[in-house]
Formats: sequence, C-alpha cells, structure tokens
Amino acid sequence: NLSDRLGTVFDRLRGRGALSEQDVRDAMREVRIALLEADVALPVARRFIDAVTEKAIGQDVLRSVTPGQQVVKIVHDELVEMLGGESGAQAEPLNLAARPPVVVMMVGLQGSGKTTTTAKLAKWIREKHGKKALMASLDVARPAAQEQLAVLGTQVDVATLPIVQGQQPVDIARRALESARLQNVDVLLLDTAGRLHVDQALMDEMKAVAGVSTPTEVLLVVDSLTGQDAVNVAQSFSGEVPLTGVVLTRMDGDARGGAALSMRHVTGKPIKFAGTGEKLDALEAFHPGRVADRILGMGDVVSLVEKAAATIKEEEAEQLARRMAKGQFDLNDLRMQLKQMQNMGGLGMLAGMMPGMKKAKAAMAQSGVDDKVLVHMDAIIGSMTPKERARPELMNAKRKKRVAAGAGLEVQDVNKLLKMHQEMARAMKQIRKMGGFKGLAAAFG
Ligand code: GDP
Ligand code: MG
Repeated sequence: NLSDRLGTVFDRLRGRGALSEQDVRDAMREVRIALLEADVALPVARRFIDAVTEKAIGQDVLRSVTPGQQVVKIVHDELVEMLGGESGAQAEPLNLAARPPVVVMMVGLQGSGKTTTTAKLAKWIREKHGKKALMASLDVARPAAQEQLAVLGTQVDVATLPIVQGQQPVDIARRALESARLQNVDVLLLDTAGRLHVDQALMDEMKAVAGVSTPTEVLLVVDSLTGQDAVNVAQSFSGEVPLTGVVLTRMDGDARGGAALSMRHVTGKPIKFAGTGEKLDALEAFHPGRVADRILGMGDVVSLVEKAAATIKEEEAEQLARRMAKGQFDLNDLRMQLKQMQNMGGLGMLAGMMPGMKKAKAAMAQSGVDDKVLVHMDAIIGSMTPKERARPELMNAKRKKRVAAGAGLEVQDVNKLLKMHQEMARAMKQIRKMGGFKGLAAAFG
C-alpha cells in the first residue's frame, strides 16, 4: 500500500534534525520504488522524483531547522500538482454553464462503473446544482443495460429516456437530445456502452455519439483498482475522444493509488470525481490536496468530517471537529462517532478515511469487533457515569466490573472498548502534531 510505504519513509525523515543530500537521495530512492509498486507509470514516477529531489536538496531546505518536515511538504505539494491541483484546494467542477441542454457523455470500459456513476452524477446535479437532468442509456450491447439505468433513475428521482427497442446508439442520442429540448432539461447525461477491451468499434461508436450530441463534458470512467490497466485505458481513450475529465471509481476499495497519480499525466485532463461505493450517494468531488494527504498517510479528515456533517447535525460535526483538532477526544466523542459509524454504513466505510483508522480497525478486527458490536459499545458507554466518560483513565477494575454488569457484558468487552478509544485518541494526537488539521481548523474556525 502506497500510503503505508511512504508513511514509513517520511516518519523517518520527519523525526530527523539535520539532513544531508545523501539522506534525501536515499529517501527518494525508496519513494520511487513505492510509486512503481503502486502502479505509477515509470515516466511519471521519474519526473516526480526529479522534481522533488531538485527542490529538496536546495540549500534553504537542508539548512533549515526542520529539513525533514520541509521535504515532506515538498513531496506533498508535488503530489498535489501531479494529481492536477494548482493550489490543491478545489476539485475541478463540472462545466454546466453552456446553453441547455448541456450534454455530459460518459465513456469507459464495461464494468468500470459508468452506469452507476451516471446515476450518481444525475443525483448530484439535481441536488447540488438544482438543475433538471435527463439520463439516456446508449448501451444496446449488453442485455438489460437500458433497464438498469431506468431502475437507477427511479432511485435517484431523475427521469430516463423511454426505451425503444432496436435503436442504435447514435439514434438514441438524437432522440435524447430532442426529448431534452422539449422538456426543458438542463443537463442530459449519456451513458454509453463499454467493451471488455478497448477496440476500434467502440472508439468509432463514441466518436459518432459525440458527433451528434456535441457534449460539453466527456468523462472517462475508470476503475481505480485496475492500476496500470486503468492508465492504459485512459491513454487509448484520450487519443480518440475529446475527454474533459476523469472519474475514478472504487476509490473505497484497496486501490494502490497509482492510477490516480498517473491519470493527469496520461490524459492531460483533471480527475473531477471519485466514486467511493456502490450506493448512489457515494460520489465525491476529487480534491487533489486531500488525496495527497491520504497518500502521505495523514488520513482524509476533511472528507470524513464532511461525510459526518451530511449524516448528522451540523453543529455536532463542528463540535467534534473542533474537539478533534484540539486533541480532546473522550468517550462521549467516541460514542458520537459510533453512532455516526452506524449511520454512515459501518466500519468499512470509515477505514482509510480517518487518521489512524487503519490501525484502530486492525485492533478492532483482532479483538473481534464488527458492526454488530457497535451496539454493545454504545451500551458500555451508556452504563458509565458522565465523569467516567469524560475521563476514561478513571476506569479501574471495580468500575469496569460495574459497567460490564450494567451493559450485560464482560469486563473483557469494556477493556476492548477502552483500548479502541486509546488507539483513536492517540492517532488523533499524532495527526495534530503533523499539522494535518490545518485545513480543518480553517474550515471550522
Ligand atoms: P458499467 O458497465 O461501466 O456501466 O458499470 P456499472 O455501473 O454497471 O458498475 C459495475 C459494478 O461496479 C456495479 O456492481 C456497481 O455497483 C459497482 N461500482 C460502481 N462504482 C463503484 C464504486 O465507486 N465503488 C464500488 N465499491 N463499486 C462500484
Ligand atoms: Mg453500463
């Protein structure tokens, strides 16, 4: 895993005072290997290392008080640039300003997540842009592909073009445009057919569809789990159809990160969205800065807080963010977190998003904690006194026994919960030390 590997290299650098040029070169050799192992294309990795090395061995850096920290920052900034960010703050938005109906065309291989992403985007456009959308499936290759989109349409409450059997993609695209005009639709989303592999017939079909629909956005949907293959697919498509952006799906999975890092270089186009699950709200604007943070192992705290804010009341999220930022995190906070975990789709969803969550999750898995146990944990904290919740260090053997009995569980379960709290509190403190809360503090004042 890329973030683990880089994390190790940088933990070593961060802790150091004076650095020599050789230290930097050694570290960069390891970074290079980590990038290649994460499926970053070779020329991309090489360019990255050259740029970082040049900046890092500058006299100012090596003579500074905290050279290690500065090298980490240089790597971070370079990652952001590689991911397509100038300042790294903002994801590139959809271009919906053209005269309606604005056409958004989705392209990509079969199974990459085009149809799902089309529905997610339609929902996004309806909810976040307040625009009227229409979806049309041009997939006549796969049986029931058009029906699949119709079903998703009802789920996200966005109209789909009525299905007419026997029509070819180009004719469906024309009919969709006509229908969009008649119904005063703002944004028309075209979900196209894929193939198992890139071939000329597919490219010809995409060109023909683009020809009749003149899309404002042509989004390439790629599966981030396919690593170097995703990069090859991007290369093939970008030579043939006028892409305007990329959507990386399955970012919730165990992606090695390389696809994201190479995508900008290969297509010359920004990554605009990340798919983070099968559910239709599992779509995020792609923020280069946050992904760089995540790759460097700082955890995607801002995304996490946003996610939480969407699920729970906003004041609660702000309060939690502020307390996390200050390094305060008691059992009341843990309880709130557990509630949110349940709301947000369980433990799996949170893994990789939260700082130290990987460690905490491993600890939980080891002690047999799963989603069902969230309920038990809530019961344990519920049996504690307010004082115990605020100061978990008070929990001695006697108190543990009382609490366990109150929750109808064993002392062992209480210990597990306390251990998990400790892990999380420690992870948050670490993040704070590394300055990973800067963005968060700015966002929440
Ligand atoms: P298409 O052939 O390109 O239209 O792909 P589909 O949209 O039919 O998606 C194929 C499978 O991938 C479906 O089971 C989706 O639920 C799943 N999928 C799509 N996007 C994501 C994602 O971001 N995360 C996860 N975990 N699954 C996804
Ligand atoms: Mg499809």
